[in-house]
Amino acid sequence: RKDVGRITTGSSGFDELIGGGIETQSLTEVFGEFGSGKSQISHELAVTVQLPEDKGGLDGECVFIDTENTFRPERIEQIANAFDLDPEETLQKIHIARAFNSSHQILMADKINELIQSGVNIKLVIVDSLMAHFRAEYVGRESLAVRQQKLNQHLHVLQTIANTYNVAVFITNQVQARPDAFFGSPTKAIGGHVLGHASTYRVWLKKGLAGKRIARLVDSPHLPEGECVFKITNDGIID
Ligand code: ADP
Repeated sequence: RKDVGRITTGSSGFDELIGGGIETQSLTEVFGEFGSGKSQISHELAVTVQLPEDKGGLDGECVFIDTENTFRPERIEQIANAFDLDPEETLQKIHIARAFNSSHQILMADKINELIQSGVNIKLVIVDSLMAHFRAEYVGRESLAVRQQKLNQHLHVLQTIANTYNVAVFITNQVQARPDAFFGSPTKAIGGHVLGHASTYRVWLKKGLAGKRIARLVDSPHLPEGECVFKITNDGIID
C-alpha cells in the first residue's frame, strides 16, 4: 500500500506496539471494559491528527461519530493546549456527528464522502462507540444475523473511505471484563472476508494498577503480539 500515514497516540510505547501509530487505509479497533480509556484515546487522536507530520500528525481534520454523547470539548481544549495548538481552531477541525440510532450512524458514515469531496482534509474517522446502538436495537438471537449484516455494511463503508481517501479509521468497542468477551469483537467476527485485504489492528485495553492502562495488540497479521503500559493524564495519553 502506498503513502500510508500514521497518527501518534501520544504514547511512544503504544505507537510502537501498533507499528508506529494508527495507520491510514486501515481500521484500528480498541476494545475493553467501561473506563478502560477508549474515549480518552479517541479524544487524543482527534487532536494529534492535526499536528504536523514531524510531530506525529497528518495535518488533517477529523470526523468524530459520537454515539453515546461521550465527546467533551473541554477535554479537547486541554489536550490541544498540551500540544501548543489553539483550542478553538482544534475544535473547529473536529467534525462531530452525533448518531441517535444505528441507522443514523450508518448515514453519518455514508456522508463522510461528501465532506471530503467538498474539500475538507479529513485524515481520521472515529466511531465511539461502534456497537452501542446495534447492541441496544438488535436484541435476541433471531436478530443477530441482521445486526451482523448491517454492521458489515457499516464497516465496509468505513474501510472504503479509509482506502479511497487515505484516511485512518478508529473504532471503539465496549466489552465486559469477562475473558470470553474477548471473542465478541465485530471485526473478529467478520474476519478477513468482508474487510478483504485490509489490515486491521485490534487492541485490548485493560485497567492496570495505580491508574495505569495496559494495551495489548491481538490478532495482528504482520506485527508481533505484545503489550505496553500507558497513562491518561490532564494533558492526554502518555507513556
Ligand atoms: P471508556 O473505555 O469507557 O471509553 P474512558 O476513555 O472514558 O473509558 O476513560 C475514562 C477514564 O479515564 C476515567 O475513569 C479516568 O480514569 C480517566 N481519565 C479521564 N480524564 C482524565 C484526566 N483528565 N486525567 C486523568 N485521568 C483521566
